[in-house]
Amino acid sequence: MAEVGTAEKRPFTAPLSEGYLVVDRKKCSGCMSCMLACSLVHEGKTDLSLSRIQIVQNPWGCFPEDIALAICRQCVNPKCVEACPTEALHVDAANGNTRTVDGSLCDGCQVCIDACPYKPSRMIWHHEKGVAVKCDLCGRAPHWIEKGGPKGKQACVEICPMRAIKLVKEAPEQEGDAGYEVNLRNEHWGWLGFPTD
Ligand code: SF4
Repeated sequence: MAEVGTAEKRPFTAPLSEGYLVVDRKKCSGCMSCMLACSLVHEGKTDLSLSRIQIVQNPWGCFPEDIALAICRQCVNPKCVEACPTEALHVDAANGNTRTVDGSLCDGCQVCIDACPYKPSRMIWHHEKGVAVKCDLCGRAPHWIEKGGPKGKQACVEICPMRAIKLVKEAPEQEGDAGYEVNLRNEHWGWLGFPTD
């Protein structure tokens, strides 16, 4: 039997999300349509600071390092859910096990924002409501006229004119970015004269 205080903490586990957003930074033009659509379907207004997806542009970066798409990874072992002291952050079984915030339980401590291992944090601070929010794959987007969630449609995927975002059902490789940053270019992309590699 392990001595009290010396037992190793077991990794936090949660049921797998039934959907994951993957992106192709080589296709993204940085138009921010996805950010505006995300804010619109969740908040009813186009406010970039309320978008759950963040397009990070580096004007000094060379293609394709000039743009990064920061999207919640619906982590297999979600540090945000593990860290939340009020259980506002939870695995939403009714929405395909997406990692979701119940705003009524969030006390605004921001622990989850620090707990997200990715930069920028995929947890977003709602500056008007004083709570944390995050991507729910549009499963709980009150202004989205489509069915959202892992079995439905996501506003960012639907609006992107470059088709740079895609929903997949299988959990991507968790280590590093290779599982989430994929090649979504097809022969049509090549016909336009753009590289497909
Ligand atoms: S809508 Fe598509 S092209 Fe525009 S910023 Fe978002 S991912 Fe990039």
